[in-house]
Amino acid sequence: MWKFSELEYKRPDVDELVKFFTDTTEAVKNAKSGEEVLSLIMKTEETSKELSTMFTIVNIRHTLDTGDEFYDKENQWLNETYPTIMPYMLAYNAAIEESPYRPFIEEKLGKQYFVEMELQKKTFCEENIPLMQAEAKLTDEYQSIMAQCQVEFMGEKRNLYGLQKFFEDDDREVRKAAFKAYSDFYHDNEKRLEEIWDELIRIRNEMGRNLGYENYIPVGYMNQGRTDYGKEEVASFREQVRTVLVPFCEKLYEAQAKRLGYDKIYAFDEKKVFPDGNAHPIGDDDFMISEAQKMYHELSPETAEFIDFMIDHELLDLKNKPGKASTGYMTLLPSLSAPFVFSCFNGTIFDMQVLTHELGHAFAGYRACRKQPVETYFFSSTDIAEIHSMSMEQFTYGYAERFFGSDADKYRFAHLQEAMTFVPFGVAVDEFQHICYEHPELTPKERTYEWHKLEEKYMPWRTYDNDEFMERGGYWYHKLHIYLYPFYYINYTLTTMGAMEFKKKYAEDPENAWKDYLALTDVGGSKSYLEILKCANLSVPFEEGAVERACGYAMDILEKEMADERI
Ligand SMILES: [Zn+2]
Repeated sequence: MWKFSELEYKRPDVDELVKFFTDTTEAVKNAKSGEEVLSLIMKTEETSKELSTMFTIVNIRHTLDTGDEFYDKENQWLNETYPTIMPYMLAYNAAIEESPYRPFIEEKLGKQYFVEMELQKKTFCEENIPLMQAEAKLTDEYQSIMAQCQVEFMGEKRNLYGLQKFFEDDDREVRKAAFKAYSDFYHDNEKRLEEIWDELIRIRNEMGRNLGYENYIPVGYMNQGRTDYGKEEVASFREQVRTVLVPFCEKLYEAQAKRLGYDKIYAFDEKKVFPDGNAHPIGDDDFMISEAQKMYHELSPETAEFIDFMIDHELLDLKNKPGKASTGYMTLLPSLSAPFVFSCFNGTIFDMQVLTHELGHAFAGYRACRKQPVETYFFSSTDIAEIHSMSMEQFTYGYAERFFGSDADKYRFAHLQEAMTFVPFGVAVDEFQHICYEHPELTPKERTYEWHKLEEKYMPWRTYDNDEFMERGGYWYHKLHIYLYPFYYINYTLTTMGAMEFKKKYAEDPENAWKDYLALTDVGGSKSYLEILKCANLSVPFEEGAVERACGYAMDILEKEMADERI
């Protein structure tokens, strides 16, 4: 019985890897049958899974303690080394693509296997290696600025997560001060954050041009694994959000202001949903984790097996500790068929979100790596993956009493409201990135002002209180996805549609909803976006009227609860 903390890390031997890929490439070229190629593929899978596991161990341990010099150095080494191994991996891929036995492989592994390769090829060129290295350095710097946040607040030094906890405080003055401290942190770092972003836009657009595109955008889409929709579809989705959800969210905040007895909701009031306080977890971190274990046991036999595996192998690191990167993620150790979940609990409803959202991702990874033959299929693209996580948040609503006691209704209302109000913000983050890459001529201050305009368009309720930095658009700086994961963010909004559909289905016909959900997890990344939606009987969010159809059920629930004044 292995445990994560005891796993041995060994720096991969680059020469050996280069030799392995070179030899295998030759062997593929000289293969005499489809079976032979397939067995070479499976052998390579073992090597590359082992390599991914080593990479992942470094990443995890680096984020667990950003001050750990050993893993900091290993992380830098890997970031610099990986791009130098890539050409050999790509040569191997090319040999498989060009193999006369390709039809046999396609029949065995599915056509998506080659689609992935196509994408890798289309998004990589030698000239981009130094740019990728420079990019990794800059995104690392952004992360370490965030991780090093030590703001003195209410008598203690706090990191960003620690500070955000006070956005839900009952005392309006405390919330206001916490928001100001948060704003000041970004304002104090603005100069460097501007430079990093400016550099990233330049570097990424150059990558796009090196690959034959006008700018980075098509490359960003391909890096997200998108093969069957483009920026026009995404733009039409954003427009549906603007017309359907923005006015509804305005109503939610008006009702919130009324509930709280305020004239209007300021930015620092948005998280304060109820006058008598938001829902609070009724136990400490360990209590939450053990309740989650019980919950997953009751939810389904599939989730029961999964949660025991995660706990037995120490694959959950959820408590907040100094030096931990302020982030949350789920990743996979492919050679061990093991997901890993990282988070920083903060004693609010956020913790429940981690236990359902990140564990939803982990559950999907756990299933896919047991059902799918090759590593590229273990993960689905994020426009699907976030359906795994967000639907799990919805499926577990019935267990809220366990975590929040008599506050369970408040948890559910606030969570569903948040699911809705998030979408306009999410599409604004997406549009912001399109604007930045399409208009590299904008100055840093002009870019930030574009964010301000997007708040007016998608978040017309947003009001700051005498905060010059936020008023001219400074809020976007906190969104690490903009720096680290270009064009990722829209996925959360597209997948909200899938999760809302699952919510409705689960209420009406839980058995079939769960069946569809398992189909969604098991298919992993073995098909394209539209094909996967079909597998799970989900509709396409770009289609006319899709946003209204997907969100209608949730909007009705919220409307009704507001009208009943149940909460
Ligand atoms: Zn997620």
